[in-house]
Amino acid sequence: MKYNTDIVIIGAGPVGLFAVFELGLLNLKCHLIDNLDKIGGQCSELYPEKPIYDIPSRPSVLAQELTDNLMEQAKPFNPVFHLSQQAEKIKKNGEFWEITTSTGNILTSKCIVIAAGAGSFVPRKPPIDNIEIFENKSVFYSIKDKSMFKDKNILIAGGGDSALDWTIELAKISNVTLIHRRKDFRAAPESVSKMLELEKLKKINFIMGQISSIKGENGNISEIGYKNDDKLNYLKTNYLIPFYGLKMELGPIAQWGLNINENLIKVDTEKFETSVSSIFAIGDINTYPGKLKLILSGFHEAALMAQQCFLYCYPDKKNVFRYTTSSKELHKKLGV
Ligand code: FAD
Repeated sequence: MKYNTDIVIIGAGPVGLFAVFELGLLNLKCHLIDNLDKIGGQCSELYPEKPIYDIPSRPSVLAQELTDNLMEQAKPFNPVFHLSQQAEKIKKNGEFWEITTSTGNILTSKCIVIAAGAGSFVPRKPPIDNIEIFENKSVFYSIKDKSMFKDKNILIAGGGDSALDWTIELAKISNVTLIHRRKDFRAAPESVSKMLELEKLKKINFIMGQISSIKGENGNISEIGYKNDDKLNYLKTNYLIPFYGLKMELGPIAQWGLNINENLIKVDTEKFETSVSSIFAIGDINTYPGKLKLILSGFHEAALMAQQCFLYCYPDKKNVFRYTTSSKELHKKLGV
């Protein structure tokens, strides 16, 4: 699919979300790309239930609540989200940027705002040399459509919430085996009890061990090798679904010709523009003298970045600075 917009924001974390608001105040429309299947970045993925104490005027706010409130604040500006896809390539076409995502979407905009935090959240993979051959065919790191696993043999690997929740869920429609290196789980206690009960009723199979090899042809698994007390065993299965958690890595952004130092993008402190004009970097991903990796720093950076984006998008218009308290246009959008 092809999309045109004023600004493409890479990263739908708290800073990317607030950027939608600041850009919206200047009538700039945004599309956001995020590798995760949800908005909120680190706040929603890593610590949704933790209270944050240093958001101005919020003595305490849960990280997920902050995401929800930022989304509510951005909503009047109708941001468009492209989730579960990575911004992979950028190309300049005249005065426009073309951003291609890992699912083949192409977004065109005058400016790019990189709000990519510590990089894309990507799954931790089992250390098996040939695993790539099977990925997206018989090895999956997340589940989008559970119906494809109906009446199949599934091996789920891991001991956290995702592994146990999907073991319980898929046990309703598939023949599920759960493998984990010990019978000690990091998941919610209710999920652990439910899984152990299913095992007792022989509705699922539990194996203690670590997967070590995959055999199969044309991307289809025939059997999985696993080690248990240094003994090698094999299990016939149709699908392997490892849930080993997520890690963050800079990924394709490193190849975009920006001035990057230790995985951080250098910016000026007036506009938060990178070494490439009309590409900006805000939030945890940027670096400048005195940078603090705090959400409130990212909010400030978003406000200043937006002023410069306006000049790129409307070179002939004057940007009249207005407080939100007195902007009639904003009040109309908010319906107040
Ligand atoms: P992120 O939240 O990291 O979001 C970036 C998003 O970009 C991610 O969702 C990622 O998937 C996406 N992305 C990256 N590259 C790509 C790509 N190529 N394509 C598509 N998507 C991409 N800060 C505070 O101010 N106060 C606190 O009390 C506080 N407590 C914290 C507690 C914990 C446990 C942690 C881990 C962090 C805490 N922080 C706190 C830090 C705060 O969460 C970060 O400063 C903030 O999340 C940065 O926001 P961001 O939008 O820049 O990046």
